[in-house]
Order: sequence, then C-alpha cells, then structure tokens
Amino acid sequence: MTAEFSAEARLIHAGTSRAPGDPVSPPLVPASIYVSGPEDMPGRSYSREGNPSWEALEAALGTAEDADAVLFPSGMAAAMAVLLALTETRKRVVVPSDGYFGVRTLAAKLRPFGVEPVHVDQRDLSAVEAALGTAPSVLWVETPTNPLLRVMDLARLGSLAAAAGAPMVADNTVATALLQRPLEWGAIASVYSLTKSSSGHSDVLLGAVVSRDDGLTGAVRDWRSAGGAIPGPFEAWLGLRGLRTLPLRIERQSANALAVAGHLVSHPRVTAVHYPGLLTGDELDIAKRQMPSGFGPLLSFEVESAEAATAVVAAARLIVSATSLGGVESTWERRARWPAETAPPGLIRFSAGIEPAADLIADIESALEVLS
Ligand code: PLP
Repeated sequence: MTAEFSAEARLIHAGTSRAPGDPVSPPLVPASIYVSGPEDMPGRSYSREGNPSWEALEAALGTAEDADAVLFPSGMAAAMAVLLALTETRKRVVVPSDGYFGVRTLAAKLRPFGVEPVHVDQRDLSAVEAALGTAPSVLWVETPTNPLLRVMDLARLGSLAAAAGAPMVADNTVATALLQRPLEWGAIASVYSLTKSSSGHSDVLLGAVVSRDDGLTGAVRDWRSAGGAIPGPFEAWLGLRGLRTLPLRIERQSANALAVAGHLVSHPRVTAVHYPGLLTGDELDIAKRQMPSGFGPLLSFEVESAEAATAVVAAARLIVSATSLGGVESTWERRARWPAETAPPGLIRFSAGIEPAADLIADIESALEVLS
C-alpha cells in the first residue's frame, strides 16, 4: 500500500487481497506445513518460518510506520528477540527506571549471558549520556511510561544514542503507531505489546518488532525461527481484526482519558494525576510534538494509601478490575500489587475504554465516595 494514503487508511487495507473471488478480509490459515515445489518458497515449507495470517498482520503493522514488522506471540517475546539480537555485540542495556517492569525483569534475566542492565530516569538526559558513554550500549526507551505516564524526549534521546553509537529501541505500546512514530525520532525499532490497544479487545496476546533496519528485522526473525516463539495463526487473525479499528478506538480512548484526567485533578481525595495531557511547559511541548493527535488511553492517579486504592478499585460498577490496558472496556487496578512494580502504593492505573466519558466519570466519582 503506497504512502499516498494516510497511515490510518493504509493500516485498514494492508494485508487484504484485491484478486476477484478472494475474501475481502484476510482469512485465518491454520497450517503447520505447505506443499513443496521444485524450489523452496521462503516461509512456505514449515510454518515456524511463516504463515499467511501472521503476514497479513505484519503488513498492516509495517505499513503504519513505513517499515517492516515481525510478529511475536507476546510483547515480551518481541522484547526478548530484540535484546538477544542487539546484545550480541553490546552488553550494556540502558533501561528506564520507570517503565514496564517486565522489561527490567527480562534484562536482569539476561545477565548470565553477559547483559548489564543499567536503570536510568530517562528524563535526565545527562544521566542517559553518562550511562551510554561508558561501553557499547543499547538504549531502551519507553514513552509514555507505564504506569507513571512520564514522557521522554525521543528526539534528544535519539541524538544521544546516535552520538554514542548505541541503537535506540522504543517501546511504543502505550501510544501505538497511530499516535507516535519512534522511527522518525531516531529509533532503530518500535517494539509493541499488541496485547494492548493495538488489538484492543482483551482477547489475545501478541507482540511485534517494527524496523527499517534489514539487519535487525532479519536477526529477530532468525531468533523467532530458532527459538520457536511463534504466534498462532488464530491470534494473528484476531490481532488484525482488532487493529483495523484502532484509528477509531484510539481517538475515543484518548478523548476519554483526557476527560477523566481533567476530572480527577480537582478531586479532593486524589493526591496526584499522571497523564501526558496534564503536563505543562517544556514537558507538554515534547508530548505534543511526539504525540500530535492524542495522548492515549492510559493514565494513573494516586490516593492516600494502598488500602484506599484497593477499596476504590473494588467499588467500581462499570470499570473492570483487571490488569493490562487498551481494551474497548475501561479497566483499572492498584498497580503496586505486582511484586516487581515500583509504583507508589496508592497508585491506581486506569485504562480508558470506548464507553461514553460521562459514564466513566460517574463510575469513578461514585467509587471514590468509599473514601468519604
Ligand atoms: N510493554 C509494555 C509497555 C507493557 O505494558 C507490556 C505489558 O503489560 C509489555 C510490554 C509486555 O507485553 P505482553 O504482556 O504482550 O508480553
């Protein structure tokens, strides 16, 4: 699909066939093996190497960023393939001290293979520069961060990484490819948990690596084939079905999150609200530059204690008490209940769904009454 159309339009049509008689929507293709001919066709011998249902979703993900996409069975499988590929020649991995805790856990698990994780608050550019300066490194960035929604300056981090000869990888899960394009800011790869907003229906785990660097996409594909962590065709089919409505969902979810964040800011029981749209000054300028069309579904806010947060989450009648983010249904959870999480004890992470904002605000308002 050519760049003459918008990313939204390309994403909706990618992976579809225009051949007369073909299904308009890419079909689900369960296959472990393919018929052989005199010549082997790439990806069409044994399906650890390729599957038409993955490829349709990869086409849609790739076209949204003018890049190539490699699909994985989860966001963490995608992250692991990138780290394995990039740390073959560089051992230091600079990861955000605030960011999805699973990535810090994974980097720590790679220590026996020589990887040295360094945790840095990536809003502090001189700390990032110092960490990158000392050894051949990989810079792993997440913005906005999960769960504190901090916004990192991708352009400046990209320049620091380039100066240090370090590939920059951006976890773009929270924003999605429609709200933020890390490859334009110097990232070698965008990494996704497609489990979240990209698929959007809380019914599938998937991940992807999106890159314009043929060496990296080849290497992560090789890790996928060699390690065998491949997505199921049904999951890929569900992922594409969800992705095609991302433009509509993400617009509504971003508007809902902004409305809820604006409401919570003046609530007497809420001690802090974290959402890119509430930032001020330079931080807001960075957020708007990187995410010009919306700040995404995720926000977090704090109440006085862990007990208070647990009580509020349990009191909701519409919002579902559940982890993860980006589904059509609004969810929330007390984030520090996860042992590896570093969020404050009274922090509630809220993922805006596509319900009318007034219903969400009414439910939150009545749940917060348990603290009165
Ligand atoms: N990156 C971020 C920002 C996440 O929030 C998550 C999961 O919560 C992941 C990566 C891991 O994705 P998955 O659960 O699909 O493995």
